[in-house]
Amino acid sequence: MNATALSQGDPALKIVALEARVVTVPMAPHRTASVTVVASPLVLVSVTTEAGHRGDAILFTYTPIAQKPCAEFITGCAALVVGKELSPTAISDALHARFRLLGTQGIAGMALAGIDMALWDAFAKSREQALHVLLGGETAPLKYYGSIGMDGAEGSAREAERWARQGALGVKAKIGYASLDEDVAVIRAMRDAVGPDVSLMVDYNQCLSAAEAARRLRQLDVEGLHWIEEPILAHDWTGLERLRREIRTPIQCGENWWGPLDFRHAVETGVRDLFMADVMKAGGVTGWIRVSALAQTYGITLSTHLWPEISSRLLLTSPNAGWVEYSDWWNPILTEPLRLEGGVVRVDEAPGTGVTFDDVAVERYAGG
Ligand SMILES: [Mg+2]
Repeated sequence: MNATALSQGDPALKIVALEARVVTVPMAPHRTASVTVVASPLVLVSVTTEAGHRGDAILFTYTPIAQKPCAEFITGCAALVVGKELSPTAISDALHARFRLLGTQGIAGMALAGIDMALWDAFAKSREQALHVLLGGETAPLKYYGSIGMDGAEGSAREAERWARQGALGVKAKIGYASLDEDVAVIRAMRDAVGPDVSLMVDYNQCLSAAEAARRLRQLDVEGLHWIEEPILAHDWTGLERLRREIRTPIQCGENWWGPLDFRHAVETGVRDLFMADVMKAGGVTGWIRVSALAQTYGITLSTHLWPEISSRLLLTSPNAGWVEYSDWWNPILTEPLRLEGGVVRVDEAPGTGVTFDDVAVERYAGG
């Protein structure tokens, strides 16, 4: 796939506006080993072309503290984007080069990814194609899993059963309780609730020390887990590689890696069981295309992290597609949230990335 060639835009399509809005969408509390999320602090990014195509993107800033700085970074980039031809890859690469000395992780990386996703949305809309079709992918069902917070054994089992009844082929729970016994109790309660045919995954959200991870993961090896996610710090590649050699259960990682270079560091260190890419931290659509190529080259199954609409479309362009992490957190501001049907997500072929804002709802939730 040659993304540069694909993004040679129509010279008549000039970008005339780049905007960012701060929106906070309430949600049911989602507990993880490191934090409880009670609302989604979002920044909505929009670009408009002279021909009137609008491209939209969602950024999830994890904390309200980062919302306004991220939005300001984006509007600060307007002078570097407005007036340019709609060529997402070229603009994205130029912005990354422009901020090389500042660094393109954290708030800067999030802002650049939001601009990139909005540009690709406008670009696909200008060609009246769904993103995955534009990139050569085929429309097909994708398997998804349901996510469960740190809800204890009883609560996790109840949620797992609900997902399984809905048809989900996998469920993933946050663990990292005070003791290994509690982690095991959650896993076994979920297994009892869903039976042997539903894949079970667990996510430590980077909360264990390397020594504690080695102790716990050796014990969890007998639980038949589909994967164990981020047991230790995501950037401790040598630690992850050591764990990988010690246990049989695949280790899932990638949602906190910034851009294709972090994925390359992982591969080079030998951390290559399973990858999950976060379309924001991976660098937007442009970054995702490169991460996907890397994963394909090394035969690593690629799954998604949040952003179910755009990520599902991107996953349809990945020959080694794994799971869609389903999330409905941002559904309240979308006119066409991703549809679940039994055990799969159904991606439609509406032009763009699949992110279309409900303007009335956006207005209702405006503010940080
Ligand atoms: Mg995770």
